[in-house]
Amino acid sequence: MSFDYDVIVVGAGHAGTEAAVMAARLGARVLLLTSNLDTIGAMSCNPAIGGIAKGTVVREIDALGGIMGRATDRATIQFRMLNRSKGPAVWAPRAQCDRTLYRRAVRSLLEACPGIELTQGMVTRLLTDGTRAAGVVTADGRRFRARAVVLTAGTFLRGRIHLGTDTQIPAGRAGDQPAVDIAQHIEALGLTVSRFKTGTPPRVDGRSVDWSKVERQDGDGTDYRFSFYDRAELPRQVPCWITWAGEAVKDIIRAHLQESALYGGAISGRGPRYCPSVEDKIVKFPEAKRHQVFLEPEGLDTNELYVNGLSTSLPVPVQLEFLRAVPGLERAKMTRPGYAIEYDYYPPTQLTPWLETKAVEHLFFAGQINGTTGYEEAAGQGVVAGINAVRRSGGAEPVILGRDDAYIGVLVDDLVTRGVDEPYRLFTSRSEFRLLLRQDNALRRLAPLAERLGLLTAVERKVATRRFQEEEEVLRAARAATITPSAAAPVLADTGTTLGEPERVASVARRPGVSLRALLDAAGVTVTAEEAAVVSAGIELKYDGYLAREREAAARLAELAGFALPADLPYLEFKSLATEARQKLDRIRPTSLAQAARIPGVSPSDLHNLVVETARWRRRVA
Ligand SMILES: Cc1cc2nc3c(=O)[nH]c(=O)nc-3n(C[C@H](O)[C@H](O)[C@H](O)COP(=O)(O)OP(=O)(O)OC[C@H]3O[C@@H](n4cnc5c(N)ncnc54)[C@H](O)[C@@H]3O)c2cc1C
Repeated sequence: MSFDYDVIVVGAGHAGTEAAVMAARLGARVLLLTSNLDTIGAMSCNPAIGGIAKGTVVREIDALGGIMGRATDRATIQFRMLNRSKGPAVWAPRAQCDRTLYRRAVRSLLEACPGIELTQGMVTRLLTDGTRAAGVVTADGRRFRARAVVLTAGTFLRGRIHLGTDTQIPAGRAGDQPAVDIAQHIEALGLTVSRFKTGTPPRVDGRSVDWSKVERQDGDGTDYRFSFYDRAELPRQVPCWITWAGEAVKDIIRAHLQESALYGGAISGRGPRYCPSVEDKIVKFPEAKRHQVFLEPEGLDTNELYVNGLSTSLPVPVQLEFLRAVPGLERAKMTRPGYAIEYDYYPPTQLTPWLETKAVEHLFFAGQINGTTGYEEAAGQGVVAGINAVRRSGGAEPVILGRDDAYIGVLVDDLVTRGVDEPYRLFTSRSEFRLLLRQDNALRRLAPLAERLGLLTAVERKVATRRFQEEEEVLRAARAATITPSAAAPVLADTGTTLGEPERVASVARRPGVSLRALLDAAGVTVTAEEAAVVSAGIELKYDGYLAREREAAARLAELAGFALPADLPYLEFKSLATEARQKLDRIRPTSLAQAARIPGVSPSDLHNLVVETARWRRRVA
């Protein structure tokens, strides 16, 4: 059979664009086919990238050669490092973005990527060759053939917008057509389909805000960039604003609760617990006196503000009424109402750990359609699907990111092993290796893999090598240099500690609250490394013991992961395992003992018996 492309990616949101870039970096001929070329890289909801755990994912994507970090740097209009006062395991870079600049950056980065062809078209069905995906057909009758297909249709699959209980609009998101035919086609292929929902808040015109009643919040003003490889000029920086939804807002919402699509029974799908609607907040936390509301600029050349914290599916007149009960918004002009949207997703236990569907070979799913929520979660999956679409269709072993390699590994493993019962988003608490998976060391964790896979350019490889050398240089200098009690005194002043005698800089740097940079300066040690390398080296020194323990645990996990479970194991015949374990193993078909161990309902004794049964089965079929 002849193919027009190696990989077709359907959808150019956050998952699709990364999938296309990864596949192209591996040398594939890629068709990025999307229902509207003008909405490539569109942010359906909040114009912000990063945050808790998500910021680390952006850096992981960047380390592997993806574009989210680069696009964010070109569009950042306010940057903050969240959790700076806590340990480095939870530091979380977050950028407020200019929505239009972000979209433009994604488009231009895609167009600069050799091997990607962009085409507009609504995909209505797949082409198959036996049990394999072999291309797609668009609504206007075009047929495109490829060795692999990556579907990243976001909230578009049978998407339905709700405003109140009696306004329902079929849509992929406000202003976009839903994708209905492809949803019906995929269901007919035998995949299980379910429904989730999410929502977005109203937007207001900044000229109608009373700025005297809201609190200004400036960014950090740091030199931070998400991208390790590319140093873009940041756009002009602007503030965000904080206000509150108090008793007056609560009264209005309570009075109209039955008119909400979510509470009036119009929507059945479950929504994101951690990004609740304002109706949810008021019902679930009745004791809370007020809820914080952030007014976030949508961009540099618009007055429109995103009202973060007031996501809603109430009727439009009620939205305006409660908006005007928020301090500072008494005379607010609403530019767009909030709404809720319900859409199809595919329970992700139907996928392998490299995001290929078990039902149809060479068909990959990534992003919101796998039951996740969030741009970063979608983009991280796009990376995995894009790499593996090329590898699987070229006959190479799939690449699985481990839980100790990346948050992306945690995300994919959680999805395919445990499944989802509400829209899944990442948190640092999802990882057992939080200190290993930091935003500052994503390059060290992933650039070597990216290099081995052939994802990086020569220039990028050089950047990575230089960064590693700089960190080594700092560590060497800190271990070699000694600091005297008098030189250390000003650095230690805030910690209430002193030195009794001269000590190695590396050893003093382990003390809580002591900066390695300040110690090196006080000891008169000059290092040429960039500040980011000094910070990473400082973290490695300070958390040495904890890191060693996490690395040991990761090594134990690697041993379990090394025990491969063949795809065709007859789990249902393994009578020494509990029935629940047999059924779950049969459904999920883990690739390793480590993955089997994480399936809820599979006990340590089931695992022990599984090892014995697998060995017996291997002897039988040998
Ligand atoms: C109203 C709303 C509120 C949201 N609220 C939140 C929130 O509070 N918190 C949060 O973290 N996330 C939220 N999100 C989710 C966030 O937008 C998504 O997680 C993210 O955009 C998913 O990325 P994706 O690439 O999977 O899909 P999308 O960004 O939705 O991209 C899908 C792409 O597929 C294309 N497409 C779809 N069907 C076809 C087809 N058949 N043929 C060709 N192209 C097709 C579309 O044009 C689009 O380019 C919200 C989304 C919406 C719509």
